[in-house]
Amino acid sequence: MVLPAPGGPSSARWWPPAAVTSKWSSARRWLLSGLALCGVCGSPVRATLLNSTRGGVPSYTCKATKCVVRNAAELDQYLGGVVVARLSRPDVADLLASSGAPGSRVLQLDATSLRERLDGLAAAYADGAIDVRQLREGSERLRARLAEVEEQMAMAGRGDALAGLMGTTDPAAAWDALDLHRRRAVVDTLMTVTIHRTRKGRPRGWTPGSSYFGPSTVDIGWKA
Ligand SMILES: [Zn+2]
Repeated sequence: MVLPAPGGPSSARWWPPAAVTSKWSSARRWLLSGLALCGVCGSPVRATLLNSTRGGVPSYTCKATKCVVRNAAELDQYLGGVVVARLSRPDVADLLASSGAPGSRVLQLDATSLRERLDGLAAAYADGAIDVRQLREGSERLRARLAEVEEQMAMAGRGDALAGLMGTTDPAAAWDALDLHRRRAVVDTLMTVTIHRTRKGRPRGWTPGSSYFGPSTVDIGWKA
């Protein structure tokens, strides 16, 4: 049984039947449904209830052939961690550079220049050329300006999806605060997720109670 893609209310009318949806929390939706690709046949995967005799395990699988099957909750959680890690990198503002929106190139140069000046301040402090108060005041001014520039970049292009995540001091909290629609837009902007086939059975080193999920069987192709 294939569940409707998140955000697809029209198809939710007729499928899945009420008996199935009652087993699923209606609030429970899936990050990668229709976004991640099967590594074998290349089709988008959908969230599906498998092993229904054992209560059902929400799983991603490609439609017809089920070349790959992956626990949906575990993959979603892993992907959230990957996105937060990407947004935590110092070059996060570069994500917006390739948006192609008018002015984004100029904003990108502004941001680079501001970051260089911040580095310069730190170097000047290290050399004893300025004192700690000058360092702090200078840094605050530059960071405030950088935050403005990054906000403008966010508005300019692909930042539509990333707005609110850029320049935040706590990307994990910002990600947690997004609704599913926004999270899917972020994933779609940042990456292509491909689910590869795994060996049958328990992974090497598996211990009772732990998961079969292995991040190495999931490929993240960065778009930005
Ligand atoms: Zn497939």
